[in-house]
Amino acid sequence: MKRFENKVAFITGGNSGIGKAVAMLMAREGAKVVIADIKKDQQAIDDLLKEGREIKFVACDVSKPDEVEAAIATTVAAFGSLDIAVNNAGIVDSSPIHEKPVEEWQRVLNVNLNGVFYGMKYQIIQMRNQPSGGAIVNIGSIMSQVAEFGIGSYASSKHGLVGLTKVAALENGVNNIRVNAIGPGYIETPLLMDNAGQGSEYRTYMESKHAMKRLGKPEEIAKAVLFLASEDASFCTGAYLPVDGGYLIQ
Ligand code: NAP
Repeated sequence: MKRFENKVAFITGGNSGIGKAVAMLMAREGAKVVIADIKKDQQAIDDLLKEGREIKFVACDVSKPDEVEAAIATTVAAFGSLDIAVNNAGIVDSSPIHEKPVEEWQRVLNVNLNGVFYGMKYQIIQMRNQPSGGAIVNIGSIMSQVAEFGIGSYASSKHGLVGLTKVAALENGVNNIRVNAIGPGYIETPLLMDNAGQGSEYRTYMESKHAMKRLGKPEEIAKAVLFLASEDASFCTGAYLPVDGGYLIQ
């Protein structure tokens, strides 16, 4: 039997980068997967359908609570339960605090922190109604613990995400709902590479910040997400797990 057979997984931002890697690995390990994203990657969905996997796309902007509530209701209506939720959708900012437009601050917080709150609110309501409970994995960042120039909104949202994860874990420990967070180092995804560019000086700088002197791959984060979402992590809750090639030890 596969690790996620008979499990229903809901993944935000699942059309690209880390979320897409999580969706593909979970589907291949037997889960019924719902991707909630603002845009659709039909190719990835078709590839998984052709392999005989159960996968569904729901259009959802995580910064809009009514869309998040509806996406979770659609998931339960389609597949009968919600066993795993991965709150992954995220965006970045790039201006110093004294120059940052208020709109930029609000946009990043709305997606990265409010979006995780909306997700967990409706995920937990559903999971509390199931005797089997569930597992939630929130995608933080190394910037949940440290900082970098120009990402005041991003670092604030990711620090906040860890606090929210811990509170959710405390509130739901006796309801058989585990809530954990992962802190990726710099990972080769569109989010990062669209800003950095291949072979650029900035890439070399980013690589140098990790003890392993390279960027991570989306699948390397996805494997840690699957661990925390699985029964292998049955006594893990409220944890923040860095998966960062040694970024934080330097
Ligand atoms: P990505 O490749 O840009 O994928 C993120 C996905 O989320 C995209 O499909 C994006 O759509 C979607 N999205 C954006 N805003 C959304 C919204 N409001 N509602 C629903 N979906 C939305 O990014 P990634 O690098 O995989 O990042 C995934 C998560 O990992 C983020 O939370 C990020 O902060 C975190 N992380 C990434 C790194 C890294 O180095 N890549 C490091 C640490 C943490 P669009 O493409 O249309 O925007």
